Amino acid sequence: MKLREHCGVVAVRGKDAVELTYELLKLHQHRGQESAGVSAVIDGRLVTVKGLGTVEEALNYEEIRNLESTVAIGHVRYSTTGRTTVEDSQPLSNGSVAVAFNGTITNAYREGYRLDTLFLLDLIASEKDPIAGVRKVFERADGAYSAVALNSSGRLTAFRDPKGFRPLVLGKIGDDLVVASEDGPIRQLGGDVVRDVIPGEVVFLEEDHFAFTSVKPPESATCSFEYIYFARADSTIDGYSVYEARVRLGEMLGRNHRAEADVAVPVPDSSVPIAIGYSRVTATPLEYALVRSYHSLRSFIMPTHDKRITMIEEKFGVVVRAVSGKRVVLIDDSIVRGNTMKRLVSYLRNAGAKEVHVRVGSPPIRYPCYMGIDFPSRRELIAYGRDEGAIAKEIGADSVEYLTVEEMIEAIGRKDLCHACFTGKYPLRLSYKLEELESTFTR
Ligand code: SF4
Repeated sequence: MKLREHCGVVAVRGKDAVELTYELLKLHQHRGQESAGVSAVIDGRLVTVKGLGTVEEALNYEEIRNLESTVAIGHVRYSTTGRTTVEDSQPLSNGSVAVAFNGTITNAYREGYRLDTLFLLDLIASEKDPIAGVRKVFERADGAYSAVALNSSGRLTAFRDPKGFRPLVLGKIGDDLVVASEDGPIRQLGGDVVRDVIPGEVVFLEEDHFAFTSVKPPESATCSFEYIYFARADSTIDGYSVYEARVRLGEMLGRNHRAEADVAVPVPDSSVPIAIGYSRVTATPLEYALVRSYHSLRSFIMPTHDKRITMIEEKFGVVVRAVSGKRVVLIDDSIVRGNTMKRLVSYLRNAGAKEVHVRVGSPPIRYPCYMGIDFPSRRELIAYGRDEGAIAKEIGADSVEYLTVEEMIEAIGRKDLCHACFTGKYPLRLSYKLEELESTFTR
C-alpha cells in the first residue's frame, strides 16, 4: 500500500509560472526529498514532468525553463512505504486534471484505492465544475489534505481540509499569485504573504486575484508536529510563529525538566530554537558540539531503516573540546525510533562527555500518524510501552525527560492542535480501529 504522504505543494499563476514553481519547490525541499514534479498547461494541454530524488535531481532545469505557462502546480514528496516510483509521484494527472497534495486521505483504502492521490484525483475529476469536485472531496475524504489542482483549461484551485492538519498559505511574489505549504519560502523569494488558507476553504487563483469559498466550517486540529519539527523555523502557521513556538518548547523544558549539566547541545537543525529556549531559562551554556555535514539529508524522512542508519553515520561530527569532561544535556525536538539518539549519545560519550542527559521538546511519540506524517507502527516507536527510565537505558543516556502533552500545548500557544501521535486520540471524522490502520499502512 502506498497511502501516506508528507510533502510540500506549490501553485503559481503568473509570468514564468513553471520556473517560479521550481524555485518554490527547492525552498520546500525539507518537506520531502524522494520525488518532485510540476504540472502546467501548455498549448491547451496539461503537461506533467516529474522524477525521483531532490528537486534538482528530479527535474531538469533547462527543461523546466522551456515550459512556458502562466499556471503551474508542483510537489515535493516523501513516502514511506518503500516503493518509490515516478508513476506514484505527484502531481498526479489524468490528462484533464492534475492534483498534488500534502497529507494522507485516511479512508482511501476503504474506498478501494491503493494510492490516496488517485482517490483525490477521481473525486475532483468526477465533476466538471471544480467547486463541485472539491465539495465531493470534503464529503467523501477523511484525513489530511492541503491540496492544489489544475485543469487543462488553466483553472487553478487550492483547498485545505476542515481540520487544517497541514499548513497552506497564499502569497504574492511580484504580480504572481502563489499558494505554498509554507510562508517562509514565499518571503525568501521577496514575496508577501496574503494569509493562510482557512481550514475548510477553497481558493481559486484568478487572473490577478484570489477568490474564496468556504465549503465547510473549520474544526481545526492542526498538526502539532509541524511546529515541533517539520515546518521551517522561519514559517508561520495560522498566525503562530514556528520559531517562537520552538523557543517556548525549550523554555518549558528548562523550567520543568532541567538537567544538572555543564553544557546544552542541540541536535541540529530543528532543535536549535528549542535548545536556545532551554539555555535561556536554565543558564546552561549552549555549545554547537554536533556538526551536521552540509549535504546531509534528514534521516527521519529517509524511507528505509538501512538508509536511515547510513545517513546518521554520515551526517554528524562532534566537537570534542566542547564536550570532553563535561556533563552534557542533549536537546532534541522528538524521538521516533531512537536510532539517531542512541548513536548521538554514544558519539558524545566517545568524545569524552562525563554524563549525557537527553531532554526532548515534545511528549513521547507512542502512536503512528495517519494524517500525513510517517511514524512507524507502535512496536517500532521507542516510547511505545517504555517509560523514561527504560528509554534512557535503551539509548544509553544517564536520563531522559520529555514535555507532557499539556506543556506542549501551552508552549505552542494554540489549543486547536492534533496530538494523536502522543495520545492516540485521532481527530478524524470516521472511526477506525488502530489495528486496522496499522495493518493497512504498515508494510
Ligand atoms: S498524529 Fe502527530 S504527526 Fe500526525 S497530524 Fe497529529 S500531531 Fe501531527
